[in-house]
Amino acid sequence: MKRVLRADVQDMHGYAVQPSAGMVKVDTMENPFPLPPALRRALGERLAEVALNRYPAERIDELRAALARHARMPEGCDLMLGNGSDELISLLTLAADVPGNTILAPLPGFVMYAMSAKLQGLPFVGVPLTADFELDGPAMLAAIREHRPAIVWLAYPNNPTGSLWDDAAIEAIIEAAPGLVVMDEAYQPFAARDSLDRLRRHPHVLVMRTMSKFGLAGVRIGYLMGRTALVRELDKLRPPFNVSVLNCEAALFALEHVDEYERQAATIRAERARVFAALAAVPGVKVFPSEANMLLARVADPAAVFAGMKARKVLVKNVAGLHPLLAGCLRITIGTPEENTQMLAAFEAALKESQ
Ligand code: PMP
Repeated sequence: MKRVLRADVQDMHGYAVQPSAGMVKVDTMENPFPLPPALRRALGERLAEVALNRYPAERIDELRAALARHARMPEGCDLMLGNGSDELISLLTLAADVPGNTILAPLPGFVMYAMSAKLQGLPFVGVPLTADFELDGPAMLAAIREHRPAIVWLAYPNNPTGSLWDDAAIEAIIEAAPGLVVMDEAYQPFAARDSLDRLRRHPHVLVMRTMSKFGLAGVRIGYLMGRTALVRELDKLRPPFNVSVLNCEAALFALEHVDEYERQAATIRAERARVFAALAAVPGVKVFPSEANMLLARVADPAAVFAGMKARKVLVKNVAGLHPLLAGCLRITIGTPEENTQMLAAFEAALKESQ
């Protein structure tokens, strides 16, 4: 058959989602809590009033302002919206401009940084974390000196490890980087620290967030904050009307009911501590501290434990094959208290079976 697509596209694997019907779904860091029925009805009424015949306009600016207030964005900054932060990763990669246009990130990390670079024909350099999933500061600085990256991605907390990086290491990276440094704060609702203050101090730093982990993964709203002049330039790359009127209205509604989401995030943080302690108490399991809504657990036979959990209708993510540092690791999203109890029972049973 005649080839009509780029060979590198044909060779690549797309972003895959595991089938999950009927399962306890703890594989993709979603917030497990639905909105209470009264709020769902109120949201339905709001969405019914949205003018679907019009392109998104003023309400989008209201959403940008509401997100800036919600995030406590510093003065002198602006905010750009994406159809999820995945779109922003792709747009930022388009804007890269330091000779060579290399994209650099610690590994293991979020797969879309490398995938966007590859799709746009840019070189990607991954710098391994240390064995306990800390940033390897000297190795990062050496890679920055060698490759002069146009963009350094720092997920903070990191996916899939849940780590928050050492402050001095981040500052040294920002000082050394010749291009942009993007702090990807997708998991900020569950973390003890954030990077907003770095926007005040460093003109080439951007902070990216999303409403996905907060409770709106299906709504697809990501946002990027940075110095106004920089964000205005980046905004030129955004496809017009990239956020739908329905998504915009749902996001505005969520921000009006932020207390509900903050209660949910607090429950998830408390459950993370409970699940951590329960996993850590199981002989033969190593669990790593996390500031995100997921935990990494290392076992002797991850494929067998994954399969045993799946047979018990609990879906986690087997990340063992993604990077040598992740050998033996399963990534487990924190669910509702009931789901976590079910997950722990399935984990222990599957582990025993695998031994
Ligand atoms: N950044 C990180 C670190 C992530 O883990 C994810 C999704 N898992 C994203 C960005 C993308 O989030 P979204 O496109 O839903 O905003």
